[in-house]
Parts: sequence; C-alpha cells; structure tokens
Amino acid sequence: MDKQTLSFQAEVKQILHLVTHSLYSNKEIFLRELVSNASDACDKLRFEALDKPELFEDAPNLEVRVFFDAEKKTITIRDNGIGMSADEAVSHLGTIAKSGTREFMNKLEGDQKKDANLIGQFGVGFYSGFIVADRMTVETRRAGAKPEEGVRWTSEGTGDFEVETITRAERGTDVILHLREGEEEFLSAWKLKSVISKYSDHISLPVLMPKTKWDDEKKDTVPTEEWEMVNKAAALWTRSKSDITDTEYQAFYKQISYDQEAPLAYTHNRVEGRSEYTQLLYVPAKAPFDLWNRDKRGGVKLYVKRVFIMDDAEALMPVYLRFVKGVIDSADLPLNVSRELLQESRDVKAIREGSTKRVLGMLEALADSDNAEERDKYAKFWGEFGAVLKEGIGEDHANQERLAKLLRFASTHADSGVSFADYVKRMKEGQEEIYYITADTLSAAKNSPQLEIFRKKGLEVLLLTDRVDEWMLSHLFEFDGKPLQSVAKGGVDLGKLQDEEEKKQAEATAEAFKPTLDKLKEALKDRAKDVRTTTRLVDSPACIVVEEGDMSSHLARLLKQSGQAAPAGKPILEVNAEHALVKRLDGMSQGEGSFDELAHILFDQALLAEGGQLEDPAAYVARVNRLLVAA
Ligand code: ADP
Ligand code: MG
Repeated sequence: MDKQTLSFQAEVKQILHLVTHSLYSNKEIFLRELVSNASDACDKLRFEALDKPELFEDAPNLEVRVFFDAEKKTITIRDNGIGMSADEAVSHLGTIAKSGTREFMNKLEGDQKKDANLIGQFGVGFYSGFIVADRMTVETRRAGAKPEEGVRWTSEGTGDFEVETITRAERGTDVILHLREGEEEFLSAWKLKSVISKYSDHISLPVLMPKTKWDDEKKDTVPTEEWEMVNKAAALWTRSKSDITDTEYQAFYKQISYDQEAPLAYTHNRVEGRSEYTQLLYVPAKAPFDLWNRDKRGGVKLYVKRVFIMDDAEALMPVYLRFVKGVIDSADLPLNVSRELLQESRDVKAIREGSTKRVLGMLEALADSDNAEERDKYAKFWGEFGAVLKEGIGEDHANQERLAKLLRFASTHADSGVSFADYVKRMKEGQEEIYYITADTLSAAKNSPQLEIFRKKGLEVLLLTDRVDEWMLSHLFEFDGKPLQSVAKGGVDLGKLQDEEEKKQAEATAEAFKPTLDKLKEALKDRAKDVRTTTRLVDSPACIVVEEGDMSSHLARLLKQSGQAAPAGKPILEVNAEHALVKRLDGMSQGEGSFDELAHILFDQALLAEGGQLEDPAAYVARVNRLLVAA
C-alpha cells in the first residue's frame, strides 16, 4: 500500500482538540493509557493463541518495553501483542467505535472549562499521547501476518493521519511519541519509572525499561543494553487467598494506604455472578486526620482487569464507609469509565452493595467474635470510626438493621461499649422502651436531672454525646421492636414500672400545687410554654423538657452553634414539688419581688443543668446575688 492520507472521524477530531487543549494538568496519564493498550494487545494475543499457538511465533513471553531517545526527543512504548493490520490501524486509530465514548461525547457541552473537567476524569485512550506529543508514529504488524504486511501510521493529531506499508520483522506494536517542545521532563528514566509504578504496578505482564548507568562525560545517567522490570507485575488480589500470607496482605495495605500501622481487618474475595469482580478491602486501625471531610473521596482503588483506573472511586463505597481502603478489580467495566458513568452503572451498583455487605460482615465478625482480642479490635474500631458508621443509619436504609447492631454507646450502666442488644438484655420486667438522653458531653449527660427517676428505678439510659447522634435518631426509631425514647421529651410515662401508689401520690401533689403552678406559668410566660409538676426528678428542683414531636434542646443548640436557625419554640419547665426550693415558692404570693426572681432562677438553673446557655447570664447572676444578700 502506498502512503495514504486519511481524515479522522469528526468525533475523533473533537476528542483530539479537547485532549490537546484541556489536559495539561494531568499529562502523565498518557503513559497509563498506552501501557494499558499494550497490555490489552498482549491479552488479545494470548486469547487468540489459545486456538492458534503459532501466533506466538518465536516470542512466547509477552511484555511491554518503554524507552526514550533524549536526542530525538521520542518515547517508545513497545509491545509484542496482537498488533494491527492496515485496515485495523485505520479503523481503530481513526474512528471511535466504543459506545461509552459516544455517550461521553454527547455529554460535552462545548463549554471549555466544564468539558476540560469532564475529560480530565476520563480515560482518553490512545489519543492521550497527543497531550505530550506533536506527532505520534505507530509501527505495527499483526501476529500471524507476513513481515511485509507491517504498517506505519503517523499523525500530528489534528485533522488527518497517514498510513503506509512497511516491513517489520517483529510482531506487535511500537507507539512512538515525538514530544512537544517543553515536555522534556518525560525524557527521564526516573520520571517514566515513577509514572509506570504509579499506574501500572499491578498489570499482570512485565513492563521493562533499559537499566541506566552513570556517564561521567555527560554528567547524567544513560540507558544501557540491559533491561529491567519496572513494575511489580503481580497483582496481589488476583492471586488465590490460600497463597497469600498475612504479611503480604499487610505489606500491600501499607503500600496502598501510606499507613504505617497494620490494618485492623481485611477481606479478600472473588465475586462471580451477574457482576464479576475481585475485592480486597481493609479497615485501618487509625482514623485519618481528614475523616470528617465528607467530600473526601474514598480510599478504594478501582482497577479494570488489573489496569488501574482511579484511586478515589467514591461510587464504589457509601460515604459512611469512607475509611475503608483497598482495591476493587472489575471484569465488566470499560477501561475508559468516567466518574459520571460510574455513578450510573448497574455493575458499579452491584459492586457497591456487595462491598458494603463485606465490610459490614468484617465488622460483625470482630464485634461478635468469641475471641476477646478480636472484640477489643472492634472496641478500637468503634473509638476511631464509630461516629462515621452512625451516618450509615440515615444513609443506608437497606442495611440499617445490621448497622444498628454494630452501634456502641455509653450508658448509665457502663461508660462505653454498650450495644442495643446488651441494653435489651438488661431491660426491666415491664420496660417497653429503650431510654436515651442526648447531651454535649458525657458528664453533662450523666448528671442530667432528667435521669434521676431512671436511676432511682434502676433503669438503664443510653448517653449519647456524638454530634451525629441527634441526626441518627431522626432515622432510627426502634431496635428489635422496642421504641427508642428520649428521657428529655414529653412527660415521663414509666407505665407499668410505676406503681399505683406512686401515681396517686403524684396526682395529689399536682392538685395541691396547682395554684403555685399557675403563678409560675404567669411569671415565666415569656420563657416557658408550660410549667408542670413531674415525678422524673428526685434531687433536682426543676428540669427543661420539650414536647414529644419537638426538636430536643440539645439539637437546637447544635444547630445554633453551626450557625443554622433553630425553631424558636419555647420549652416546658417541669418542677419537683417535693424539693425544698419549690416548696418555698409554694408559700409565697405572686408579685412579691422574690417569687418572680426565684421562678426565673429555677428556670435558668434547669437550663444550665442540661448544658444549655443562658440568654442573659448577667441578669441571672444579679438575681442570685440579690437573693444571697436578702438571706
Ligand atoms: P480502548 O483501549 O479503550 O479500546 P484506545 O483509544 O486506547 O481505546 O485504543 C483504541 C484501539 O486501538 C484499541 O481498542 C485497539 O484496537 C487499538 N490499539 C491501540 N493500541 C494498540 C496496541 N498497542 N496494539 C494493538 N492495538 C492497539
Ligand atoms: Mg486504551
């Protein structure tokens, strides 16, 4: 075939334009793409040779070689894979057949900035060579074809390309990049090696580069005749579980996570079925400093058939498992999958569901282990990541029940490690609800006046102090059929736990106290929605509660702290008619200076006791001082 000049398909021109105009921020990906094509070509040869072993000719060892020529300013990526015929070179390198790419092109909006962003996240394949090259030459011969049937394909990456027949003894393909002015940084063995090990460490075939030696005259390292392997060429996760030692798993974890500490647990599985993939997932021992950044992308690397695709594939893990590190290697996804495509892919959804279940299973195994050491690991895990796992209660309804079992709390029974199941086991005869209180700190929760009656009755109360707890509780209403009940909401109804005697007495007290209550209501009408007597208090004179459906005052405080508007509803003041201070009010008449003062002090103290802030602390201090002076 004589030299022919052919025109690129319109879409290719568009891609080329985008590649050369938008991708300078992440140039090095060209090497990932070209090495992955070389690796694909070898895979294809291996496959075709199953039926036709003669295709191997006299070179059965498949490999990729990468080398450069500093004077000519070229980088060559050479493989001894399947190669291309002239027709194949024209169609594979001149048109885009892949539907994924079409879809991708359709998403482009013609808005330079947005499109650059999109294409930057996208595998751009062969044409990415033009990011750094102003000319690409491909010399190739298909396996099984005669040496005279070689092809040279050349293009400057603009409108067209040339093809001509050449003689080529070796099977396979050379892709030669003629570097643009200013791209000399890639004419460095060190640079090329580091990019290869970053992206291509785990492709299964060897990538070779010339060994270098120091040249005194040139004052630089120069390539030698000897070749060395620059990737590991053995993806750990593709090996069988039984062949991998614990030490190897740990070393691999350190390599991918940059974490010095050993992981708490890991899981390694090959999943077959509708979606085929391998997962190797780790739970770290320590939370990273940026755990709370929910925008931070996940620590799971996505590979497609052992080719690295991206290392922060958040679509593979729910946000609440963002601490998980590891690798997922899919057999189904296209190599050039974009983040957008990942979000929509059904395969990815299946991977995500499967991986979520695996991680939960791994945590359950620790939490429920017969081995105390493993259970300690879970306690450690909970200390580091528990608050993040709680986000799952609201985000992952499908797994809510499993997640609820993994939750651990402080309670009036133990300072940590209490599960719902533990709580339920300790529930009193006749107790129907799981009681909890939310507060800013553990000591505020423990000392809350609202707990007094529960203490007296020996009822356990969960003490919730994580910021995420209130939010979590807006998604979780029960465990094992037992409703969750805040002790700071509504009236206490201990139901069957309160005996008739007590109830009658409480009613009698309330009746007798009614006139004073009315006076209190009047005195506090601007601050309290209602004032009522309660049996929930034993040692304290008063406490603040909210109505069942209202936002807890703890949550209202959290919202205020984060600068959000909290509903301006007034709380309810509950008073302990048996308390000396309250009894003293009973004897005073309203309007008497100190009745109103005392009423406000009572209210302010109730607020303070539950960790709230006074709107006017100075007024409170003045009132107390007046009282002290009068006494
Ligand atoms: P993809 O690899 O996703 O198919 P690319 O743009 O990277 O897309 O490559 C386009 C096509 O060019 C490949 O599908 C393959 O048919 C052909 N090709 C590219 N590089 C080689 C190579 N080194 N050997 C054989 N064929 C190749
Ligand atoms: Mg490719």
